[in-house]
Amino acid sequence: MEDVGLTNAESATASPERTVCLSCGTNELVSVVSLGDLPLANAYPLADAVSDEPRFPLDLAFCPTCSLVQLQHVVPPLQLFTGYLYFSSYSTSMLRHVEALAGSLVSSRGLGAESLVVEVASNDGYLLQFFKKAGIPVLGIEPADTVAEVAVRERGIPTEVAYFGPELAKKLAGEGKRADVILGLNVMAHVPDLNGFIEGLRMMLKPAGVAVVEVPYVRDMVEHTEFDTIYHEHLCYFSAHAVAALVRRHGLVLQHVERLTVHGGSLRFVIGAGAEHGESARRLLEEERRLGLDCAAYYADFWRSVEHVRAALVATLTDLRGRGATIAGYGAAAKGTILLNYCGLDWRMIDFVADRNPYKQGRRMPGCGIPVLGPEAIAERRPDYLLLSAWNLRDEIVEQEAAFHRGGGRFIIPIPTVEIL
Ligand code: ZN
Repeated sequence: MEDVGLTNAESATASPERTVCLSCGTNELVSVVSLGDLPLANAYPLADAVSDEPRFPLDLAFCPTCSLVQLQHVVPPLQLFTGYLYFSSYSTSMLRHVEALAGSLVSSRGLGAESLVVEVASNDGYLLQFFKKAGIPVLGIEPADTVAEVAVRERGIPTEVAYFGPELAKKLAGEGKRADVILGLNVMAHVPDLNGFIEGLRMMLKPAGVAVVEVPYVRDMVEHTEFDTIYHEHLCYFSAHAVAALVRRHGLVLQHVERLTVHGGSLRFVIGAGAEHGESARRLLEEERRLGLDCAAYYADFWRSVEHVRAALVATLTDLRGRGATIAGYGAAAKGTILLNYCGLDWRMIDFVADRNPYKQGRRMPGCGIPVLGPEAIAERRPDYLLLSAWNLRDEIVEQEAAFHRGGGRFIIPIPTVEIL
């Protein structure tokens, strides 16, 4: 972002190496992968600010005590939340996902006018709107005032502009706001105080209430070489082992867990009171133990696979470009920033990146100077190839851009292996 406040020279001192596990506090982290110094994934600069972008080390480590995979360097939170431009409701597949979740919770938990559904990191109200339409009282909690404002103004979702933690949970519980369901989708990976977060959930839940938490699954990241899901705002990379250890510390259990396909592979946990983990959680924990997700050795080949994807993608693009082809990107998301910068791809290789989000259009991709334009630029400029950095929305984008494909255009899918459609 233009006023991100640090220069490259200052970056190193602003990102000390972490030696203590974010969850259990043990001091013996083991290195997993290093992606080098990369720009902040969601800080889209204006054209005249591209030279000032700070870079921070992006390295992952594993905790042998509680199995949590986590970033090894700390970026100050102020840096991360400057220029927060993510609006959940721009992805149609994500909307379908959360509408289905809301529908199933309303019936399975018997929610009604006496219930309260709370969402942590409620964004623009994209999820709570479905509970509100069903007549269920809702409360959003969202630290980014710009997006919270959209939730209140456009959707009528009451929203606390704050970070979630024990202090806020205590205040809300004191006001009688105890929840039947607390939702936390793709937020826990961004939370520096994991124990405070879980403690806050515990404090705000009614005795029979549950927290429904979704996080990307570190096993899918490793199995599909999804290194571009690693970025500075994303502090933790969870397994069932890591989450089980975390919630147990706060007297909670995993009542249920299931695997989801969203975000390249995620886990949905139902967390609540109980004497022991539910059957589905026990099964997954056993499966992880067999695969070795509770051991550092499980991660040993990941780094090599990541380097292999980079080499293959750079070779493919260099070859196409050498033969005179034009290449654009699709998806100005965090994944795109990491992919482009880790592979050293800039405006000389990629002409522009198309994205539906009007807040990003007219800006540049972080760290590489590539302009972000609206999807209409694809029909206007007719690139030969579209690099799908938002590969998790592959089916959706291929369908939206069917005219591009019919006209002879080809899609390049970078991950898990380079593929041309
Ligand atoms: Zn740990």
